[in-house]
Amino acid sequence: QCPWGAPNTTSISCSLADVMSEQLAKELQLEEENAAFPEVVVVAEGPFITGENIDTSSDLMLAQMLQMEFDREYDAQLRREEKKINGDSKVSISFENYRKVHPYDSDSSEDEVDWQDTRHDPYRADKPTTTPRKGFIGKGKDITTKHDEVVCGRKNTARMENFAPEFQVGDGIGMDLKLSNQVFNALKQHAYSEERRSARLHEKKEHSTAEKAVDPKTRLLLYKMVNSGMLETITGCISTGKESVVFHAYGGKSATEDKVIPPECAIKVFKTTLNEFKNRDKYIKDDYRFKDRFSKLNPRKIIRMWAEKEMHNLTRMQNAGIPCPQVVILKKHVLVMSFIGQDQVPAPKLKDVTLSSEDMKKAYCQILNMMQQLYKECNLVHADLSEYNMLWHDGKVWLIDVSQSVEPTHPHGLEFLFRDCRNVSQFFQKAGVAEALNERELFNAVSGFNITADNEVDFQAEIEALEKMNEDHVQNHGKKLSMFSGDGDPPIYDE
Ligand code: ADP
Ligand code: MN
Repeated sequence: QCPWGAPNTTSISCSLADVMSEQLAKELQLEEENAAFPEVVVVAEGPFITGENIDTSSDLMLAQMLQMEFDREYDAQLRREEKKINGDSKVSISFENYRKVHPYDSDSSEDEVDWQDTRHDPYRADKPTTTPRKGFIGKGKDITTKHDEVVCGRKNTARMENFAPEFQVGDGIGMDLKLSNQVFNALKQHAYSEERRSARLHEKKEHSTAEKAVDPKTRLLLYKMVNSGMLETITGCISTGKESVVFHAYGGKSATEDKVIPPECAIKVFKTTLNEFKNRDKYIKDDYRFKDRFSKLNPRKIIRMWAEKEMHNLTRMQNAGIPCPQVVILKKHVLVMSFIGQDQVPAPKLKDVTLSSEDMKKAYCQILNMMQQLYKECNLVHADLSEYNMLWHDGKVWLIDVSQSVEPTHPHGLEFLFRDCRNVSQFFQKAGVAEALNERELFNAVSGFNITADNEVDFQAEIEALEKMNEDHVQNHGKKLSMFSGDGDPPIYDE
């Protein structure tokens, strides 16, 4: 006999309607879940989803990420309801406290937009006016000191702008809100502690999979691609570089009719560990296409920018008819493109393939042509061209790895081009191609310049002088020199 007496088993009474609606709700939810995640989930047999090195902690992570997605959807629903209830009413209610995702967890990855143009930021408030160092402004009886209550209050309101962007401060400036020092300090304290909390959470997430090929967020992205049917299976990793990991996948069906997914795809995942990208700044920071955007972006966005750059550059090349991977889709820092190779075997790099001297000569002529097209038609310099980034497939050379490519007017564009030329010349001269131009001739042939210096040092100096001239011109006239824009016809070398 239980010393505390028998438990009271009378059931709580509730109305039939309640039960009915709850059941209905459950059914609806189940239906929805089933639609989103069919019973038999076709999962790639890649090393990151199933396979021998199965890791339950990362499965847990995956589950948590999925849960987060659900929570976000829940919140979106809340927001819709909130809007419906509030309508145009002057007094509004807020469901903020019922939201599942803490505002700090909902980082930029929640947006399904792959790229947001940040060049124009309509939301940036004007700089708050501050009183100068001397502590007062105005003269005579119009003098206002920095201790003035109104000025101080406004200043505090304006300073809220400095809180983390996720911290919702409302439109205090627009309302001419005056915050007392006490309130401002309390808010500041809160903003900082929240920021720290979020940082801790984040750190945990990143570190838990530091040794894995891809982080949980990327895994979720890939998982979604397979789940949506766009990719059939992700078979495995082709390459792990310093800055990217490349996977092979079999293509599936596109959601839209007009788009055809290639039978085999390469997935290039730009690594989100930031260290490796630091020394690449110079490629993008000085690229005027990205100039204004660079400084305002957080590191995660900068990595997405590399992926975006590769996509744009590949598209330009595709349009010019240069053999290169075809872009399938860009999702954040993951670029899906057509696979160069067959049956999961990637085409060999030019450095690894043994070609007959005839093929070698053919390859050289083709590359010379492609470099000219790249410069003239695509207005691009590859900037990492070498036998490592050229694949031999189908009896011709394919160019890959163009995330770092820049326009010739880039402040170091011509230096990059010269380096490319040196790599190409040296490779083909070593391979015994008699027709191969030396690096200086190649540079002139590609760019259309006519630099006559006959030694490396002078040549390099002239290149730098040209770059400087262009920079000065841009400074003074706001536009680049015409000779850079491909107007000065470089002779097209044909086979
Ligand atoms: P990284 O910046 O790491 O050098 P790459 O774009 O050069 O990135 O890709 C690394 C390797 O992955 C390449 O050397 C090539 O072997 C392979 N690879 C990349 N893209 C493709 C593709 N579209 N088809 C086949 N193999 C590819
Ligand atoms: Mn490469």
